[in-house]
Amino acid sequence: MNIRENDAKYIAGTYGRFPVALVSGHGSLAYDENGKEYIDLGTGIAVNVFGIGDGEWKAAVEKQLDLIPHASNLYYTEPCVKLAEMLCEKTGLKKVFFGNSGAEANECAIKAARRWGLVNKGEGFSAIITLKNSFHGRTVTTLAATGQDSFHTDFGPFTEGFVYADADDASDVKRLAKENKCCAVMMELVQGEGGIHTLSKEYVNAVLETAKEENLLVIVDEVQTGNGRTGALYAFMNYGFTPDIVTTAKGLGGGLPIGACMLGEKVETILGAGSHGSTFGGNPAVCAGACSIISRIDEALLEGVKKKSEYIMSRLEGAKGVVSVSGMGLMLGVEPVRPKAEIINECMENGVLVLGAKNKIRLLPALNIPDELLEKGIDVLVDALGK
Ligand SMILES: *Cc1c(COP(=O)(O)O)cnc(C)c1O
Repeated sequence: MNIRENDAKYIAGTYGRFPVALVSGHGSLAYDENGKEYIDLGTGIAVNVFGIGDGEWKAAVEKQLDLIPHASNLYYTEPCVKLAEMLCEKTGLKKVFFGNSGAEANECAIKAARRWGLVNKGEGFSAIITLKNSFHGRTVTTLAATGQDSFHTDFGPFTEGFVYADADDASDVKRLAKENKCCAVMMELVQGEGGIHTLSKEYVNAVLETAKEENLLVIVDEVQTGNGRTGALYAFMNYGFTPDIVTTAKGLGGGLPIGACMLGEKVETILGAGSHGSTFGGNPAVCAGACSIISRIDEALLEGVKKKSEYIMSRLEGAKGVVSVSGMGLMLGVEPVRPKAEIINECMENGVLVLGAKNKIRLLPALNIPDELLEKGIDVLVDALGK
């Protein structure tokens, strides 16, 4: 079968794919249809936390597949309860709603915030402040939440009630909070799709101050930053506060689809029976795998993430062909002098998979990538950048 021809013939053309068909992989190595080996510095966009097909994760999923792979939310099942307990104990949030993707996790957060606004502030307090350059998903509502004009074309009408603040000027959040009837402010602490832009602590603190003054919920979208990626279990822990709502997905499932919306004290009872749901949400096999992932994101692993991050920084900062390096932990952006596409393609030709984000090269390696593979991968990237 010609994969590329049939993909063009039968798959909706929503993706600009790289000219590579991946057929297998193990850990931080992936193999294409011709048996060519690649060092994976993209992990399926921050999904394969412990690399491709991690053994413990696979064993946990397989064990649950043998017991009961799916049951629906009409019945109790153990893995989702165990995962929710683990997430609450580790984050300080109180309750979890499970869906299947980042967008769905954010949809839940938006619903929770709007009902909270209605109940606690009154009719019409439904506006949510999001940040320019953010990314919150591809559904009609999460596209509206996304603070990039390029996402607000062709598919309207979009969901109303989002206003966009400058991601570096906290006074803009304050202005919007005063001008609109708001229930929440929502942000990524490191804007991923927006080009690995890290929010400063001063900015975040000022936003928290405004949220307090204006009685707004603070929603943090940790779909990409979560699950150990930034050197803490969740990025908010690097900033020293606990949000009212945290959403996550990507890495949580370790390679299977899951999204989670974690609800803090103010909103833990806001979604009652019948107010929200998902057929696959909390699927036992996926949650059993996620338990294996979350239970192993410990201090030792996070120390390793920080060390690997420092190593990458030390190789790239000031290197030839590099304008700047941004990000946190193993979520890093490199602004190249040359167009990013040239660098990404050269890396691929030389057996290294890296991603793009806006004008940057984006690196999202496995949190346990062996140092030797990381070094080799960075060697190839440094060569491509320096040409
Ligand atoms: C990827 C991403 C999403 C969307 O997640 P999906 O699983 O693709 O729906 C939302 N927010 C952020 C910050 C993301 O990086």
